[in-house]
Amino acid sequence: MPLDWINEAQLKASINNTLSIKQVSALNEFFPVTHSLKYLSSRRHSALFQNYHIETPRVCPICIRDTGYIKEEWRYIGNLKCSIHDVGLIDVCHLCNHKLEWSINLLEGICTNEMCSCSLKSEPLNNALECLFIDEICDCLLADFVYSHPYNTYWPNLSHPNSENLLTATSKGYDLLNCDFKRWIELYDAQSNPFNALAVKFKYFPLYHLAHSLQNEWLFSEQLKKLTASTSSPTKQLFNLSSYVVTAESAMTILGLSKHEIISYSPEAKNKKVIPSRLRINIAPIIKATKVTK
Ligand SMILES: [Zn+2]
Ligand SMILES: [Zn+2]
Repeated sequence: MPLDWINEAQLKASINNTLSIKQVSALNEFFPVTHSLKYLSSRRHSALFQNYHIETPRVCPICIRDTGYIKEEWRYIGNLKCSIHDVGLIDVCHLCNHKLEWSINLLEGICTNEMCSCSLKSEPLNNALECLFIDEICDCLLADFVYSHPYNTYWPNLSHPNSENLLTATSKGYDLLNCDFKRWIELYDAQSNPFNALAVKFKYFPLYHLAHSLQNEWLFSEQLKKLTASTSSPTKQLFNLSSYVVTAESAMTILGLSKHEIISYSPEAKNKKVIPSRLRINIAPIIKATKVTK
């Protein structure tokens, strides 16, 4: 145990987001700040998934060769590296890039793709990744998801993170949130963007959606503000738009549509007293009726 103010049960509970009120008040004796732990433990870190443990194998190749078993803590996506060997936890083979599977070979540190069967290897992480906390890791994974599904106007609600390669996805997402914004713009200004000819807030909507869902301050949000200030909408919007599906929550919080507007255009919302935030509605008719002002 690296720290003497937290016992193993408390540590496990805080990692698994299952701290009890009693555990919170015990921790509170050391740090008054943990008043907020109860709130933190129930807080959702990611707009994409609800649980922060992956269901597929992820290992430290050195540990597994030494001990022959898989540690529970490797499932938690907040842990990017092995705390003993300082190398990244891997879920794909470094050589053949196949996703690791549950198999007896894995317990010997061998790639589970039978065509490969190499001895698994992992590298130390770069400094920037090493310092990331769970909130930041979730931000990076979300950025990577949006970049690889750029024209999705709503996101899936997954139970578990399902990145193919968690380390690469985190690292790519980290670069995307800190990088030159051009990479994003190119993607949305491309002819392949089905919403290319719409007003700015609809054309770049997935970017606003991402900025709205990030939990930390990244260069990305700042650059998005600059883009908004310097871009004007086309004077005529695309009129053959038949589908533009968003959740009721993003329609209201990001696109500024009123409850009344949503109900009047969406048959699904009509009979509901409270509009469920994840209800998907097609706002194409609203977009077509919107006069372009900027
Ligand atoms: Zn290890
Ligand atoms: Zn392999």
